[in-house]
Amino acid sequence: SIVVTGATGHLGRLIVSSLLDRGVPAGQIVAVGRDVDRLARLAERGLVTQRADYDDPDSLQAAFAGAEKLMFVSGSEVGRRVVQHGNVVTAAKAAGVGLVAYTSIPRADTSSLVLAAEHKATEQLILDAGLPHVFLRNSWYLENYTAQLPTYLQHGVAGAAGDGRVSAATRADYAEAAAVVLTTEGHTNRVYELGGAPFTMTELAAEVSRQSGNTVSYLDLPVDKYTELLVAAGLPEGYAAVLADGDRGLAQGELEVAGNDLTKLLGRRPTTLAEAIDAAL
Ligand code: NDP
Repeated sequence: SIVVTGATGHLGRLIVSSLLDRGVPAGQIVAVGRDVDRLARLAERGLVTQRADYDDPDSLQAAFAGAEKLMFVSGSEVGRRVVQHGNVVTAAKAAGVGLVAYTSIPRADTSSLVLAAEHKATEQLILDAGLPHVFLRNSWYLENYTAQLPTYLQHGVAGAAGDGRVSAATRADYAEAAAVVLTTEGHTNRVYELGGAPFTMTELAAEVSRQSGNTVSYLDLPVDKYTELLVAAGLPEGYAAVLADGDRGLAQGELEVAGNDLTKLLGRRPTTLAEAIDAAL
């Protein structure tokens, strides 16, 4: 079976759909998460479901028993993930899984992003455990931007990303790439740097302007001012700081992905910013 953690989340759900699209029988996919309502909806589609928490090693052991492959979607509780992911790795090792595909961040081993530290540590835990693995180093989601279209149209685009370019791609494209890795040969111990066609925040604002017919501009702020703006908009301070640090890294090229690993895995070019905005509008 293929076990998918985070299957109750946005990306994991799309990975499950891509696996089904690629012909994996529903009964061979084990969907793992904490949210029982969302697990119940996955069970209605014929999937095997297992409730497990990254904080609960026993629940992970039970969920991974008999797994051939593990799609390990990184958790969302920033600051707690090294311990949590360590529990996942220990359970994967105990289950003897033949492949762990882990969703990481571009150049996790050298990235200066605050968010990269937990990914780097997790990759290292997987390496230290000697688990056959694939690192899916996903850049940002295009949805991080398209979800903010109403805000952009009302207030414009703000950030601290300077002229940096982000190789964002849709969750659906990252999910399909993950499903390809899980259902085809030749990926063991590979590291994929995944992202779409890169764009700057100025280009993002220009594309929103072009498609909406409203003039939307990009306001570039120092990192501390952007953090303050996010806090004023209602974000918790820690989360605002992490987001602003993401823009700091973006400005330095940390989220621009070289090569074309995503195109190669998909066998087509990824969905573009223009297409994603068109779909969202
Ligand atoms: P979601 O927040 O939609 O999903 C997160 C998933 O992780 C959920 O299924 C959730 O389970 C599960 N999860 C979180 N904590 C635990 C835990 N303690 N035990 C078990 N399961 C847990 O995020 P996305 O699907 O959009 O993104 C997937 C991951 O990618 C994120 O978790 C994060 O690591 C990373 N990310 C990447 C971004 C990018 O731009 N590249 C942006 C944001 C996040 P449940 O819902 O059942 O609680």
